[in-house]
Formats: sequence, C-alpha cells, structure tokens
Amino acid sequence: MALIIDGKKVSAEVKEQVRLETLELAKKGIKPGLAVIIVGDDPASRVYVNNKKKACEAVGFLSREYALPATTTQEELLSLVEELNNDKEINGILCQLPLPKGLDEKAVIEAISPLKDVDAFHAINVGKIMIGDYDFLPCTPAGVMEMLHSYKIPVEGKNCVVIGRSNIVGKPMAMLLLHENGTVTVTHSRTKNLADVTREADILVAAIGKPKFVTADMVKEGAVVIDVGMDRDENGKLCGDVDFENVKDKCSAITPVPGGVGPMTIAVLMKNTLKACKIQNNC
Ligand code: NAP
Repeated sequence: MALIIDGKKVSAEVKEQVRLETLELAKKGIKPGLAVIIVGDDPASRVYVNNKKKACEAVGFLSREYALPATTTQEELLSLVEELNNDKEINGILCQLPLPKGLDEKAVIEAISPLKDVDAFHAINVGKIMIGDYDFLPCTPAGVMEMLHSYKIPVEGKNCVVIGRSNIVGKPMAMLLLHENGTVTVTHSRTKNLADVTREADILVAAIGKPKFVTADMVKEGAVVIDVGMDRDENGKLCGDVDFENVKDKCSAITPVPGGVGPMTIAVLMKNTLKACKIQNNC
C-alpha cells in the first residue's frame, strides 16, 4: 500500500504560513486583497469561488467578489478588470474560467495587470515561468510541487511523465519539474503507445480530465503518482484521472481525489496573493 499524500494537510500548512505573514503585514497597516470575478451561473465555478472566499477569510485577506450576469458584455468585463487594476486595495485579480460563450477569455486574461495576475495565466507571467524568473507560479502545478517538497520526494534526475499539455496544468507542470532537474516527458492525446511511456515514469502526473484513465498496468512499480484530475465516475461521484484503488497497490506514493491536489490549488492562490501584495507594497 502506497503512502497517501495528504493534500489537505499540506494545504493547511501553506495557508497557516500565509496567515502568519498576513498578521505581520497587518502591523504595517497592510492587508492583502483578492478580487474574484465570476460571470454567469455555472455551479462548479460557484463552488470554487465560495471556497476561494472562505480561504481568504481564513488567512485574513480582504476578499471581494464580483458576480456578473451571463449577459455581461466583453466591454463591461474589461472595464471592471481595468477598474480593479487601478484599485489600491486589490493586489490579486482572478477571473473564474470558463467564461460564458461569447466572451473572450484570452482578452480578459491579457487585460489583468501581470502584477495582479495571481493565477499566472498572463503571457508575461507564462514567459517568466519559461525562463525560470517568475513572481507567481500557476496554482495547480505549484500546488503539486509544494506536495512533493512537503513529502521530501526528490525530482532531480527522476523520469517525470506528465499526461496532458493544457496551458493551465500540463505545460507549466512540465516546466516546474524541469526547473527542479527532472527529466520530463509531456504526453497527450496523439502520443503513441502511451502506456510504454508512462511505465518509464518515476513520477507520473495525470492531468487529462478522464475518470480513472490511468490503470495499474500503465504505472511502474514504486512510482510516485500525482492525480490532478477532477472527474465524475459512472455514479456521478468525484474521482481522479487515476484508477486509485488498483494503482495504490503498485506505486510508492499517490495523491487521492478528493483530498489531494485539489486543496493545494487554493493554498497556492493565497500564497500568490500575499506575494503580489508584498511586491506592490515594496516589502
Ligand atoms: P484539458 O485542457 O482538457 O487538457 C487535457 C489534456 O489531456 C490535453 O492535453 C489532452 O491532449 C490530454 N488527453 C486527453 N485525452 C487523452 C488521452 N486519451 N491520452 C493522453 N492524453 C489525453 O484539461 P485541464 O484543464 O488540463 O485539466 C485536466 C484535469 O485536471 C481535469 O480533470 C480538470 O478538472 C483537472 N483540474 C484540476 C485542478 C485542481 O485544482 N485539482 C485544476 C485544474 C484542472 P490534447 O492536447 O492532445 O488534446
């Protein structure tokens, strides 16, 4: 039976550190502020936004929510972003994705000031990550790295295989593993003989979006398996991209779903907002 990597525990540790640093800032009269924009009434987005709000309150941040109707125009959305870019109380801006049809996500991401882009989706921040000289890291891949660090799982010299190449998870995940001297392979839907590639992985990261896609025969004995997936199984129950029940007996460590990568994403968002606040206040 593998070590179960406890994302809730690591997330709580990261948030506690943020809370303590926020208390220190309060002594100087500084309070980090996060603005979250949600457009439309997607139920999953609503859950994420509520969780972000709760996390802000727990660490002592100012939290502002802008819930806009699905009929919001691109101009209205961009004008709100501009207003928040200039708002001194707000250090981080996040626009919950996906946006309703008809709104241009790329334009919204590019309108957010790179200094307040705590999701690290802006092209400037993406470029900075590429060259290894960054202020913010994208929340989910950075959350994975936090978990590896917390459990003292070394990356250097390891064969790391990432399944998925999205801009939000797969690509930045590969880059962060590379920065820590992993030997990284990125796979995707056109990869030939995927199982042959994944079986070479000492560290396997699944970010596919297909329930229980990674089966035990795709995993090397003793590998570390990180499951980024947030999927629904045939009964509508939350599960990951990895067939946890069967893979856990083959690997050395594994993240569960729920309770693995999920809680880490918000913890890193808090960390990024704190950092944005410090940068903007020169402290
Ligand atoms: P995405 O944009 O849909 O990307 C999925 C990736 O998986 C694509 O690169 C795709 O390849 C690849 N893929 C699809 N089918 C495949 C196959 N049969 N074999 C190999 N690769 C395949 O998804 P995402 O945004 O990266 O999210 C991935 C998962 O992570 C989802 O379950 C999502 O809900 C979850 N997620 C969780 C968190 C969290 O906080 N825990 C955050 C973000 C996302 P192509 O590029 O060739 O199409």
